[in-house]
Amino acid sequence: MSQVSEKSMDAIVSLCRRRGFIFQSSEIYGGINGFWDYGPLGAALKRNLKNAWWEDVVERELPGPDGTPVSVVGLESTIIMNPKVWEASGHVGGFNDPMVDCKESKSRYRADHILCLGVKGQAEGGQIYAFLEGDDDGIAKARKKLEKYVKRDLADEELDTCAFMDLSAEERAITVGPDTKEVGTLTEPRMFNLMFETYCGAIRNEDAKAYLRPETAQGIFVNFHNVVDSTRVRVPFGIAQMGKSFRNEVTPRNFTFRSREFEQMELEFFIHPDEAQTWYDFWRNERYRWWQAIGLAGDNLILRDHDTAELAHYAKNGAGVCDVEYKFPFTAPGYGELEGVAHRSDYDLRQHAEHCGKGDKWRYFDQQSNERYFPHVIEPSAGADRGTLALICEAFTPDDSRASKVYMNFEPRVAPIKAGIFPLVKKDGMPEIGEKLYKELRRKHVVEFDVKQSIGKRYARMDEAGTPYCLTIDGDTASDQAVTVRERNTQSQERVALDKVAEFLDEKIGS
Ligand code: ATP
Repeated sequence: MSQVSEKSMDAIVSLCRRRGFIFQSSEIYGGINGFWDYGPLGAALKRNLKNAWWEDVVERELPGPDGTPVSVVGLESTIIMNPKVWEASGHVGGFNDPMVDCKESKSRYRADHILCLGVKGQAEGGQIYAFLEGDDDGIAKARKKLEKYVKRDLADEELDTCAFMDLSAEERAITVGPDTKEVGTLTEPRMFNLMFETYCGAIRNEDAKAYLRPETAQGIFVNFHNVVDSTRVRVPFGIAQMGKSFRNEVTPRNFTFRSREFEQMELEFFIHPDEAQTWYDFWRNERYRWWQAIGLAGDNLILRDHDTAELAHYAKNGAGVCDVEYKFPFTAPGYGELEGVAHRSDYDLRQHAEHCGKGDKWRYFDQQSNERYFPHVIEPSAGADRGTLALICEAFTPDDSRASKVYMNFEPRVAPIKAGIFPLVKKDGMPEIGEKLYKELRRKHVVEFDVKQSIGKRYARMDEAGTPYCLTIDGDTASDQAVTVRERNTQSQERVALDKVAEFLDEKIGS
């Protein structure tokens, strides 16, 4: 059994692998950087998260700002689209990150993820030490190297931390890279396009070049009129889509947080330009509430409004931009983005109208007001993999008092398995009663039937899987027609009649 007594990323990654939540992609060949596979428990957890999003955003009609149900329809567009889509959206020309290479170690970094430590006011004749943002001991190691270089201990007030991007050329020349001992091995930052390229058809030339989508949103914008013309939706309404996106990230890291292949859950909500503030405020609050309801209710979740300097050009004069952020173990004490909510104005629809040649004819016609306009868009854009990782990190609860030393405190709605059904021993008719109960319950819920190993070991497995309830059939069940129900978090036990177990689970899990 595991040795876990703290909530560290190492312990979380190890549990994910051991219990089949997340594996390295193509692990037997040494893996591939930035790609991850979900095992049986992970696939179920991620599916439950995505289902919850689809149910709550598309299927359930939320009461809107004035109490009228919010209208949202679903869409599934392709991953590869006409490359002109990405020229219009600005991704081909502008979807870039600054990249830095280390000439000595051959490592490659996102320039905006490198921080630097030096002695205040001592550029000349001094040295600066680079380390990676989010690297727990990065700053401590950089400080040690700096103290060794100046041959004395340094007080906090003498130290200066800044972003690598803010260094002058002279300062970069005296900077030691995160993985080297020499100065001046880091190249100047260069822009790097994140689009994955491929070719359609047998001939691999420029004409056949296409891209794997870096976001699902553009599939929604290009289908805007198809949806309006083929359904009864009228502004204000939303189109939701979830699916894979691909970004050739310079430095994939922090487990699944920054992957090269990941899944997004995006909603483009189309509104009259005059109503932008009302709908932005509505989605901003609603999306924060949703992540709380799904299991991230504690202090680790925040809603952060962007300041003007951070805003994309199309959002500068808009109703606002904010992120729902989670305090992952690798970002703590800081936070990492789970979802962005942005007022994108009419930027995307106008871009496509212009690039496809339809121009003003591509405006939306409002039959009630007889008005033609390009609707504005409020976009809540979330990551399913980052969401799943946040659920895992939040659920991971070390507990030295139990055999597993840890349990996963998932909300029942997202828990991969809702109940374990365990005959205490493999005799005296217990397995038969258990199997009958299993067959009854699995019609509605994902439940597991297990007769192997001791009951303690079976409980421990369920604790690690985050199963909220275990139902044990024991020596008394045949006579009293009841089972022992063990609750995961408190480990408390109560007796529930066999014919009331289904009702009990419906009530606790939601039917
Ligand atoms: P970041 O600044 O962290 O790169 P972003 O602002 O570029 O993220 P968006 O373009 O707003 O991200 O994408 C919407 C959502 O998609 C993000 O909130 C995140 O949950 C998810 N996402 C984006 N890039 C990745 C990635 N490389 N790996 C996993 N999820 C991602």
